[in-house]
Amino acid sequence: MNLSGTVLPYFAESSTESLVMTPQRYSKVGTALIFLYVTQLSTGLKCICLVCTNHICETEGACWNSVMLLNGKEEVLKSCVSPHQMKGQIFCPSSSNILRRECCFTDFCNNITLHLPKVGNLSSWGPLKLAVVIVVPVGLLCLAGIVAICTLRDQQCPYNKIKKHDVEEPLSDHSLMSSGKSIKDLIFDLTTSGSGSGLPLLVQRTIARSIVLHETIGKGRFGEVWRGKWSGEDVAVKIFSSRDERSWFREAEIYQTIMLRHEHILGFIAADNKDNGTWTQLWLVSEYHEHGSLFDYLNCHTVSVDGVIILALSIASGLAHLHMEIIGTQGKPAIAHRDLKSKNILVKKNGTCAIADLGLAVKHDSVTNMIDIPSNHRVGTKRYMAPEILDDKININNIESFKRTDIYSLGLVFWELVRRCSIRGIHDDYQLPYYDMVPSDPSIEDMRKVVCDQKLRPNIPNQWQSCEALRMMGKIMHECWYANGAARLTALRIKKTLSAYRN
Ligand code: ADP
Ligand code: MG
Repeated sequence: MNLSGTVLPYFAESSTESLVMTPQRYSKVGTALIFLYVTQLSTGLKCICLVCTNHICETEGACWNSVMLLNGKEEVLKSCVSPHQMKGQIFCPSSSNILRRECCFTDFCNNITLHLPKVGNLSSWGPLKLAVVIVVPVGLLCLAGIVAICTLRDQQCPYNKIKKHDVEEPLSDHSLMSSGKSIKDLIFDLTTSGSGSGLPLLVQRTIARSIVLHETIGKGRFGEVWRGKWSGEDVAVKIFSSRDERSWFREAEIYQTIMLRHEHILGFIAADNKDNGTWTQLWLVSEYHEHGSLFDYLNCHTVSVDGVIILALSIASGLAHLHMEIIGTQGKPAIAHRDLKSKNILVKKNGTCAIADLGLAVKHDSVTNMIDIPSNHRVGTKRYMAPEILDDKININNIESFKRTDIYSLGLVFWELVRRCSIRGIHDDYQLPYYDMVPSDPSIEDMRKVVCDQKLRPNIPNQWQSCEALRMMGKIMHECWYANGAARLTALRIKKTLSAYRN
């Protein structure tokens, strides 16, 4: 109920004797009425109203409080001001009689008694002193009131409306798209301006909500991956089911780690959770790579020796970046992937790779020297699990342990890759690691027997020895597969070695 409309006409005629009260008369009535009124259910801002029959009014605007000199006496006026009147500044009459006035924005905030400065003193004050004593505090009070209402009330405040538009509602697609910027440009602009490793949430949501899905391109642990279009550009959308909300949140969080962006880590674009009334749709939007995963790619393509080195080097570079801790205010924690495999690596158009599917990754917090989530260490894909995971001997409190398991998996990915290297038309068919030693969906026990007990590793064929680059690849694999994790190469070492072979 908004009573302010009935109050202000009275206020405009505020010199009428019957509509004003002395401070003493007002304060008794006011206090009693507040307690009566707060028990009633109401949505607007409640104010003391000396010109209303029940001495209370309600408004979406502000409470008014003023005191004026009338026939040599202080006369107080308290009422409501509607948002419309605030905008039009109707509530700020310039009557020279009104000497103190203020707007405030919390329930019954005008339940205080304003007094005029003593006339004798007043007349002796210069204009500057007057301004400091009257205008500044009143101005500050009004400002504080506006700030308070903008923070606490989310309805009729015009300032808040602006803020609400910024935070809650997506920018119009038009404004985002009409900028003519590609997603790459947007990400470049917005992430190099210090907003960490992700676009502002508002932009993420706006992009996500204007994507048109085309077809499914993959399926993994958590639902489906789709190709979609945003403003003419292809994007990949990983859709999680609502029961996997934690995985969605975790993957989005990891992708938005400060300084994570790297040309060989899948480019994250947006995360969005959209409630359609029945269930929540959880989306992760990323750059789309038409070749799909390295697994898909190797199944239908062979690769030249140079191509092998370029692919391998890019994977090692991405992993080295993931593993690396960058120290500084814009630093990056060390991250271990924990599910590195050919299905979680994507092949880009330019013949390099991007590491994807960071949903199981763990970060190292160097301040507390802790891993950031309580770790269920037996996660990942059994076929790619390092021996220390299979026999449950991994030290889960040390990020280096997890990095070493990634290196073991990296060696297996290199093995899949080099098998598809074609020299003079000769190459092997595509196979998963341990394809000839374990069943198609191996259990942890199947893997443990082979990898830990029998200490077997994928076969490195003799023909690789005839090519220097492939011989080097074989040596790297061997040094990724040591049973002792600490003896394995680091991603950075592998990257450096491979760089030397790049033509
Ligand atoms: P999950 O967590 O369910 O395993 P992934 O992120 O690994 O999901 O994606 C599953 C599959 O979807 C990948 O193996 C790949 O074939 C395809 N895929 C995922 N992201 C992309 C992308 N950005 N571009 C092209 N294909 C993708
Ligand atoms: Mg996956």
